[in-house]
Amino acid sequence: MSSIIEKDALIIGGGIAGLWMLNRLRAEGYDAMLLERSKLGAGQTIASQGMIHGGIKYALNGNLNSASEAIADMPEHWKSCLAGIGDVDLTGTNLLSEHYYMWPRNSLRSRFNAFLGSKALRGKVSKVAPKNYPDFFKRHIKGPLYELLDIVLDVPSLLASLSKNHQSNIKLFSQDSWWSIEMNPEGEFKSLTMQQGSETFEIKAKQLIISSGEGSKDLLKKLIPDADLPCDMQMQLRPLHMTIVKHEHPYPIFVHCVSDQLTATPEVTITTHKCKDGKFAWYLGGELAESGMHRTQEEQIQVAQNKIAELFPWCDLASEQWHSFFINRAEALTKNGKRPETASIHQYGNIALCWPSKLTLAPNLGQQIVNLFHEKNIDRGSYDNPDLGKILFPGIAIPPWDTL
Ligand SMILES: Cc1cc2nc3c(=O)[nH]c(=O)nc-3n(C[C@H](O)[C@H](O)[C@H](O)COP(=O)(O)OP(=O)(O)OC[C@H]3O[C@@H](n4cnc5c(N)ncnc54)[C@H](O)[C@@H]3O)c2cc1C
Repeated sequence: MSSIIEKDALIIGGGIAGLWMLNRLRAEGYDAMLLERSKLGAGQTIASQGMIHGGIKYALNGNLNSASEAIADMPEHWKSCLAGIGDVDLTGTNLLSEHYYMWPRNSLRSRFNAFLGSKALRGKVSKVAPKNYPDFFKRHIKGPLYELLDIVLDVPSLLASLSKNHQSNIKLFSQDSWWSIEMNPEGEFKSLTMQQGSETFEIKAKQLIISSGEGSKDLLKKLIPDADLPCDMQMQLRPLHMTIVKHEHPYPIFVHCVSDQLTATPEVTITTHKCKDGKFAWYLGGELAESGMHRTQEEQIQVAQNKIAELFPWCDLASEQWHSFFINRAEALTKNGKRPETASIHQYGNIALCWPSKLTLAPNLGQQIVNLFHEKNIDRGSYDNPDLGKILFPGIAIPPWDTL
């Protein structure tokens, strides 16, 4: 049997970008549908640290550049969504921490770094009085310790919130079965056809939105001949080597440890996540992850253990469960190969390639896609589509600390 489905927008990829855009477009009255080939968040989103930055980590070298400006309002934006009064309903998302901390280690230069960062983002960072230090730091550090407005979210519950009201329009796009894409003679997207058991579904859409993270490159290859691919639709990968330590230490920490070097990246960025088995996972990013690319997993774990022992001599985690893994950040290509500073949309006819650049900037991407639909005067269609109950909801990805 074969069914035809008509939509205003077809989104491919259910990470933070695709889910946020789905929510915004549907709230605007567009009939949008999302296809995900694995589980929701299965790429970078579920592996992220869940930090919603206000940009201070980009101002550590004292420069308030466009990256820190674009991102500065994001924590407030997300907080209104968490309270159910923002442009996307995130009620039900668990907040892991209402604050993020920045701890410059005991050298003049790192204190200076932190100071410059705090000046650059006036009012968005404050010095914590020692009596208010989080339990983990109390009696152990002299300070200073800074509190940022940044928040930390539990990503699986974020993905659940973003998908809860749209499950009938979020479908598993199994690529083990036969599927194809048809373009019209003008080179625009016409439809995507996929086989589910004995049934075939042809999904037609006015606008195709690609938010497939690292998978975007292969998808674009199927849609646009290489020679026609605009330069700004190219992708870059920036790899990370993340480390996890699972333990039973009772105090969660959420902290940027600011290095002795004048760089824009903290030496270690730590978030704490509760695991299904009741243990806690410290998830270690920052410079440790960026510089860990050329290390084996064994070497990375050794470097991470040494770093944690050096930073927190009062906390012995050497015999706990350590793990590391490689993952790419997939983004729009930049001239210097560095981090793109904003979320961006790149167009080829009715195909939009979308990059949030950071979890934090998803609201910015959501606004850009709504603006695009308005600018292009895309009509809100009214379709009599068949029941899609036979195509499964993909479910939500499992975070890395629960796969160990
Ligand atoms: C280790 C790590 C930590 C990070 N921490 C933070 C942080 O704390 N704060 C922050 O702001 N940012 C953080 N980031 C960046 C942030 O996670 C990413 O910018 C963001 O998650 C990208 O979202 P996305 O939706 O574009 O891509 P992804 O999350 O990668 O989602 C793409 C989705 O598309 C699906 N897909 C791929 N190909 C296809 C296909 N052919 N058909 C159907 N579906 C497909 C994938 O399965 C996946 O679900 C971090 C990134 C990493 C890697």
